[in-house]
Amino acid sequence: MREKFIRFMYGRNGVDTLSKHMMWGAVILCLLSNIPYMGFLAPISMVMIVYGYFRVFSRNVQKRYAENMKYYYFVNKVKAGPKKWMNTLKQSKDYKIFKCPTCKQKLRVPRGRGNVEVSCRKCATVFRGRT
Ligand SMILES: [Zn+2]
Repeated sequence: MREKFIRFMYGRNGVDTLSKHMMWGAVILCLLSNIPYMGFLAPISMVMIVYGYFRVFSRNVQKRYAENMKYYYFVNKVKAGPKKWMNTLKQSKDYKIFKCPTCKQKLRVPRGRGNVEVSCRKCATVFRGRT
């Protein structure tokens, strides 16, 4: 039986982080769907379970791997969001952050220098700003 299963799973994607998280998300949505007015979550959780199993048994490993990597990228971006925001807030006391009008690069200038000429390090555009 065990060998049969191993043979069956050969060449398939198997359980990866995205499928695992999707299954757990489906379980949570399923539980939440019992709350009044939250019933619309039940079909969503069903779709997530079906898609999660589809990913586990999929033979297109490369495509599933790419999806998993995209998911990692997304999660890391979401995780970094509050940290980045806090960092900007902390720095805003000592530095004024300018955005280059040409290339949108963020530039940091120490506060309390009055009117300054800022030159972008990335594209060399020069613009004026108050610190
Ligand atoms: Zn620039």
